[in-house]
This record gives sequence, structure tokens and C-alpha cells, in this order.
Amino acid sequence: MQNTNTLDAIVIGAGFAGMYQLISLRDKLGLRTRVLEAGSGVGGTWFWNRYPGARCDSESHSYMYYFSKELVQEWEWSERYPQQPEILRYLNHVADKFDLRRDISFDTRVTGANFDEAKNQWVVKTEAGETLRAQFLITAVGCLSSANVPNTPGLDRFAGQWFHTGAWPHEGVDFKGKHVGVIGTGSTGIQAIPMIAKEADHVTVFQRTANYSLPANNAPLTEDFKQYAKAHADEIYEIMTTNGNGHPFHIEKRKAVETPADEIEQIYEAAWQKGGLQFRATFEDLLVSNDANKTAAEFIQRKIRQLIKDPVKAEILADIDHPFAAKRPPIDSNYFDTFNRDNVSLVSLRDAPMQEIVPAGIKTTEKVYPLDIIVFATGFDAMTGSLLKLNIEGLGGRKLNDDWQAGPRTYLGLQIPGYPNLFTITGPGSPSVLCNLPPAIEQHVEWITDCIKHMRTHQLETVQTSDRACDQWQQEVDRAANATLLPQVKHSWYLGANVPGKPRVFMPYAGGLSHYRSICNDVAADGYRGMRFS
Ligand code: NAP
Repeated sequence: MQNTNTLDAIVIGAGFAGMYQLISLRDKLGLRTRVLEAGSGVGGTWFWNRYPGARCDSESHSYMYYFSKELVQEWEWSERYPQQPEILRYLNHVADKFDLRRDISFDTRVTGANFDEAKNQWVVKTEAGETLRAQFLITAVGCLSSANVPNTPGLDRFAGQWFHTGAWPHEGVDFKGKHVGVIGTGSTGIQAIPMIAKEADHVTVFQRTANYSLPANNAPLTEDFKQYAKAHADEIYEIMTTNGNGHPFHIEKRKAVETPADEIEQIYEAAWQKGGLQFRATFEDLLVSNDANKTAAEFIQRKIRQLIKDPVKAEILADIDHPFAAKRPPIDSNYFDTFNRDNVSLVSLRDAPMQEIVPAGIKTTEKVYPLDIIVFATGFDAMTGSLLKLNIEGLGGRKLNDDWQAGPRTYLGLQIPGYPNLFTITGPGSPSVLCNLPPAIEQHVEWITDCIKHMRTHQLETVQTSDRACDQWQQEVDRAANATLLPQVKHSWYLGANVPGKPRVFMPYAGGLSHYRSICNDVAADGYRGMRFS
């Protein structure tokens, strides 16, 4: 039997975004709101990504909500970069504190959503056959949640076990005595490989594209720092929300191309020792000038060659074909040093591409590597994958999967023409993955909440953006990307290049979080320019 529930708002996803959206709509606006979540608990990314070494690359004091001063003051992080279990504990604490679970349906996967024009309602269907209706539909499905398992021939015949890092078994994986193959050397692989190598008998890393990585220099937080972060919370928040990337540091106002070489070296060395993504903020021209970028790229490549004892491995790891930080730069704990272990070998798939998976292991054009376990650290169908899986249908039955065949089109990453009363938190066309995500999420949730409040105050039933506003915004997204080196990397997931057949469109907004925020504020102040209410 089917249930029909009518609500004011349905939110899909109970990670950072969905939880704050629930708090905002339910507790600030008094809307009847339900969150639908595929997992059995809150946490989103941090619920699913339980692979060994899973840790955040944003510093803990910035990887949290700032909307509640009380919450900021009461929560205590233990390390500079929080591990997955600690972030999940934090999000569960938030769920308890704000009594969120009573309005979240767990183990509930959305299979379709269509707009009923006669009633101005979204009709949302779940895998269990439930139907819910609501005036507003808000997606909070995350940018990196649709796992990308390469369509490699033979996987179904593999005699061992295989796992994708983004859907890691809750009970963990026992690597003891095993020969493990890890495919992928993005942020995830770089975190997982050192941990797996400590446990497994042997690890073979299959690298397609060599990657930069910076030392995290992770450590327990000192009592002094914990007190500092609480006492200066307002100041830290101000920095995070007035810079381009949402991190708690500013980008230095100096150019590498105007700095003498010996000074550049000292600056990079100090940043390398300090660790973390601040390295990217040492000069303001690193992402806009190839000459500037080369100084950072060469410094890191030199470091990699120094760290790796075996010259063959060193060359494979340091042979990087793209500008530094033009793909998301990972940070690591002992990643390069791990290749000095006797039980770790490295295969360059550039030199010998993977052909197929055979029952015994992975076969490249060179040989078969016998394996007991394959770990796919192969990333995600980023930014659009999870949205398209929702099977969203808008006005006149138009399908999002058709409308986005040539790539995503949004207005501000928040609205899509033809889909009234649908809001996408950190959707394509917003800064999202180019930022520390919690401040980007808070900005979106607050903007959406203000827009809905405006509609309620003025008794407006629907809001939708226009093709014209969307086209103009896409031009701005392209302009912002082309002002940087980011689109130069043709094999980046920012462009959708990691998923065969996906259109190559630069998806996030590269104009910076603070600039983006001011655009969104102007749009709202200008009567929600580019959006039509009825
Ligand atoms: P990713 O950056 O997309 O890296 C995937 C890796 O798998 C790349 O090395 C890729 O090679 C390789 N790969 C993909 N398909 C392959 C195939 N068919 N054959 C061989 N190799 C293949 O994915 P990720 O490492 O999961 O990271 C995704 C994003 O999630 C990050 O950029 C970051 O934004 C976020 N993340 C954050 C954290 C954190 O904060 N600590 C941790 C993990 C992830 P190519 O480069 O050649 O495509």
C-alpha cells in the first residue's frame, strides 16, 4: 500500500547540507519538512567514506558549522585534520542537539521526483514505494557521492573481493596477509594507500596520472590552539567567508612571477614544513599564470624525487602532466614515503594500460598482477551524478537527464530553468568543490531559506529561473574558469572527464566564494533578479 504525505518541503540527503537545511526550514521558518536519506544514519559523505585513512583536508576548526555560536563553543576537535569517525561523531552530535532525527527518514532512497503543475507540488517517490508531496524540493545530495567504478571488463569474474572507497563496508576490510591492488591516486587513494600498506602483505598501486601531494603535517591540537579557535571564532569565520576558498587563511597578496627565486624557495619550504592546503595560498598568481605555477610544480616535483629512494618509482610519481592545483591537490600523511616500503610496488598505467580484470587479478598490457583484494579509489561521478540519479522531471514532464545531456545548466548553482521550487545546494555552477564546503553550504542554505521566507511573506506559490538568466550565469561560470589554469587539465573531474561519455563542461564556479556570495546577495536584494515568482 502506498502512503501519501504532504509537506511544505522535502530535503534529499542528511549530510552537512541537508541537516542545516532542516534546521533552517523547520526551526526558523516553521515549515513541515522531511529529509529523505539513503543511509541508515546522518553524515552523507562521512557516513559512506569509511576507507582506512579517511580524513578531511580542511582544518578541523574550519570544517564545522558556524551558524550556532553555542555549537562552535561546545564542540572540541582532537586533531588538526579530523578523521572520518570524528566528523561523523560531530554530525551525530548536531543531529542530537537540534533533535533532527525525528524529521529524517533513513534507509530511504529517492527514485523519482516530478512537478505536479496543477497543485504546484513536487511528488517524490522512494524505493520502498512511498510517495511524498511538498511545495519545495531541495537537493542536498553532495557533490562527490555517486561512486565511479570503472567499467573494466572482467570485474564480475574477479575471484577476490573488491571495494569502492566511497561505499566502504561498515565492518571494515581485513587486509592482513593479502595482496591488495589500489587503483587511483587522487585525494582518496593518497590517504588510503599508506594505511593499507601497513596492514597488507603487499600493495600494488596502479597509477594512471601522477599527482601532486602536500604534507598534511597532521597532529593533535594543543590546548592553546583549541582555546584560540574558540576565542577567535568570529574572526575565523570572517576570514573563511571573505576569501575565495572558504578556508581560514588568506591568499598572500604577492606574485611568484615578481619574487626572486631564492625567496620563492624559502616561502615554499616554510609552507611545505607547515603542511596543508595553505601552500596553495603562498602566491596569488599560482592559479592564473603558468610561469608562476611552474615554480610551485617544480618545487613539489623536486621534493617527490628526494623522498623516493627507488629512482624508477620516483620518476613515475614525479612525472606530473598538469599544473599544480589545477586538479584538486591532495594532502597526505607519509604517502610518498610509503613507496619506500618493501611491500609496496607501483605500476604506471600510462606506460602499460589496464586491459581487463581476470579471476586472478589485474591484467595490464604488460602482465597479470595477482591480487586478493582490489580497492577502487577511482572517485565519483562528481557534481551531477547524484542529481541525475534522482530522475527529476519538471514542467511538461521535461527530464533533467535530457536537459543536462550537454552538461549542467543552472542559475547560480541554485536553480534550474523548467524546475520550479527546486533548489540545489552546492549544485554545479556554484563554488562548492573549489571551497572548504561547510561555509559554502551555510551560504546556500541561508540564501535558499531567505528566498522561501520571502515567498511565504508575500504569499508566492512558485519560483523559477529563466533560460536567459541561466545562459548568462553559464557565461560567467565559463569566464571565471577561463581566467584560471583549471580548464587546462583535460582529465579532471571538474570537467567530468573521469566518467566515460560525460560531457566535458567545467562545472564548479571558479570566481571565488566571497565574490559569489556578493553576487547572490545582490540578486536577492534586487528582488531575486533572474527568478520569477507567481
Ligand atoms: P579522484 O580525485 O577523481 O581520483 C580518482 C583516481 O582514480 C585518479 O587517480 C584517477 O586517475 C584514477 N582513476 C579513475 N578511473 C580510473 C580508471 N578507469 N583506471 C585507472 N585509474 C582511474 O577521486 P578521489 O581521490 O576519490 O577524490 C575525489 C574528490 O573527493 C577529491 O578531489 C576531493 O575533493 C574529495 N576528497 C576529499 C578528501 C578530503 O578532504 N580528505 C578525501 C578524499 C576525497 P586520473 O587522474 O588519470 O583520472
